[in-house]
Amino acid sequence: MSTPQPLPSPAAAAEPPGWTAQDAEDLYRIRQWGDGFFFVNEHGHMAVRPLRDQALSIDIADVVQDLRNRKVKFPILLRFQDVLQARVVRLNTAFREAIENAGYRGHYQGVYPIKVNQLHEVVEEVVEAGKPFKMGLECGSKAELIAALPHMMDDEALLVCNGYKDAVMLRLILAAQQIGKNVIPVMEKYGEFEHLLELAREMNVTPRFGVRVRLGTTGAGKWAESGGDHSKFGISIPELVNLVSRLKADALNESLVLLHFHLGSQIADVQILKKAVKEIAQIYVQLLKRGMPLKYVDVGGGLGVNYEAGYGSDENSINYSLREYANAVVYSMKEVCDEEQSPHPILISESGRAITAHHSVLIVEALGAYRKDTVEDDFTPAAEHNAVVRQLFDTLCRVRQLAANKRRKNPPLAELMENYHDAVEKRQEADTLFNLGYLPIEEKAVAERLYWTICRDIDRQVKKAPRPELVPVELRALDDHLVDQFLCDFSVFQSILDHWAIGQRFPILPIRSLDRKPCRRAVLVDLTCDSDGKVSHYVSSNADKDFLELHDFRNDGPYELGFFLMGAYQDIMGDSHNLFGRVTEAHIYADAAEPGGYYIEKIIPGTVVQEMLAQVQYFPNDLQRRMNDLIKQKIDEGRIRPKAGVDLLDQYMQCFSQSTYYEPTSRDTPPNNGNSA
Ligand SMILES: *Cc1c(COP(=O)(O)O)cnc(C)c1O
Repeated sequence: MSTPQPLPSPAAAAEPPGWTAQDAEDLYRIRQWGDGFFFVNEHGHMAVRPLRDQALSIDIADVVQDLRNRKVKFPILLRFQDVLQARVVRLNTAFREAIENAGYRGHYQGVYPIKVNQLHEVVEEVVEAGKPFKMGLECGSKAELIAALPHMMDDEALLVCNGYKDAVMLRLILAAQQIGKNVIPVMEKYGEFEHLLELAREMNVTPRFGVRVRLGTTGAGKWAESGGDHSKFGISIPELVNLVSRLKADALNESLVLLHFHLGSQIADVQILKKAVKEIAQIYVQLLKRGMPLKYVDVGGGLGVNYEAGYGSDENSINYSLREYANAVVYSMKEVCDEEQSPHPILISESGRAITAHHSVLIVEALGAYRKDTVEDDFTPAAEHNAVVRQLFDTLCRVRQLAANKRRKNPPLAELMENYHDAVEKRQEADTLFNLGYLPIEEKAVAERLYWTICRDIDRQVKKAPRPELVPVELRALDDHLVDQFLCDFSVFQSILDHWAIGQRFPILPIRSLDRKPCRRAVLVDLTCDSDGKVSHYVSSNADKDFLELHDFRNDGPYELGFFLMGAYQDIMGDSHNLFGRVTEAHIYADAAEPGGYYIEKIIPGTVVQEMLAQVQYFPNDLQRRMNDLIKQKIDEGRIRPKAGVDLLDQYMQCFSQSTYYEPTSRDTPPNNGNSA
């Protein structure tokens, strides 16, 4: 790998005709994951249609240009607040429709689990959009409870409190119940239940609470351990039976109002959901018959998002739609209740991922494209070059002769293979000679360039094979070795932690130029010094999803990539690897009356160097003093002039207010006219 190589533009002139926005949508599978929100517009730009039933669309490239004009720092996370609202409405509508179609005699009253994205604006937006549906919130820790409680304006909306709660939390919850708020603590362990009763007695109040039941049904996929016998949380059936007798003995039957289960995030298979709902329904009707007037059944989280854009067989994909999920819950519950002639409970789901994933898009700039170094077409080795260099050159000549043979219809695979083997051998020989001190570094460089040139030329011929499946594996793999690296201004660990941690794929694609056929195969690498700081799997319609098809990297404007479906978990779980901080955020609202159909409501600057340093206990005063001492010593030694010392200190101090990401200089980023690059 070496210096970035902007490709000469003539390639563009030879644009293959007929590449359309439609082709880009197919390649990046936009329709499959975009859920009707995202599409390629007539300028070849990514656009969002936040309100499904209206024609209004927002050009994402325009928004990005607008933000550039305002001099905000990149990378930047765009939040389309209308998409968030639309998802809330869609979830509630799906349940309403299922309830109506099934003739279910209870309603749906969802809660938003704030751990998925606690950002205040996100929570406020969800609560606001959920008002007509009496949508509530779910919290899983003390800090989340403190954040969520004051947002419970509607007395009927639920605040479901999961997680193991201490006395402070339980008291606060009981007090909130006293003032008429619908706050329901869910008992995760039997001990927590005893603690709650004790505190309620102390406070002289009748508690209302729910129980997380440990079901026999376990989830499938990554988070299977969240349910079942070995799950961390939950009350077992024997414990539940004890709990019920205990309540009866204390005449507290009315206190148990809710049953809850949680199968884990991204439920892969809808059959498992149905099984779990039927199991909890059975418990519900049995407890009802034993005099426990339960009111709610909460089916937890797990409503999946189709990141992978398909109904594939791997464990990240889900096999149902939002509508099927709602139907599965409603019909399964109804079936069991009707068999036992029981009333239908109010249904709750704690869907977080499905509400927030779609609304945010991370915009990341490619800083350079790196391809394997090759030699010029007219290269000839010098007389003094080592024999190994000349042998590599001979191999290259032979490969070129094979290509030049116009009489042959198909590539001569056996000969290409032989030449490839020669090249591998000679490159190894060059490495050995270098290691033993017999080959100067300049000649090693030439040898490597020749090697990659041979690989590239063989690859070009191999690609013409009429039946790719007959091409030897070694030659097929050449294509992978030849992929480009696109160095991008972001951190995998801050912005797409789940990609690194659990191999989650996110749809990634250029936000412009989608009316041009992409001609490069790339792997995206980030700014961190970690070899894991790269994107290894992509969403595309290619059989091979280990690379991303991108355009030529030309230095005539920034090449921006959009990372989609970023709204769930990534924002909050991102970490400070290499001290890269939170990225800038812009909150965008659709408004047909504004030019471009949107306005930017708010920009939240990303973390600056000083803030990141403070997290690990470095502070400007101390650092300045140390830097000053260090410089002063050099002035005293006569190594630099005092003026230069002052300048250096100035320069150093200025960095504290800088973004932690790449600060482009005017040379890096020529002015962009906002059109497709
Ligand atoms: C994490 C969690 C959720 C949210 O799950 P999603 O799959 O994001 O909808 C809901 N309930 C509980 C108890 C959780 O731990």
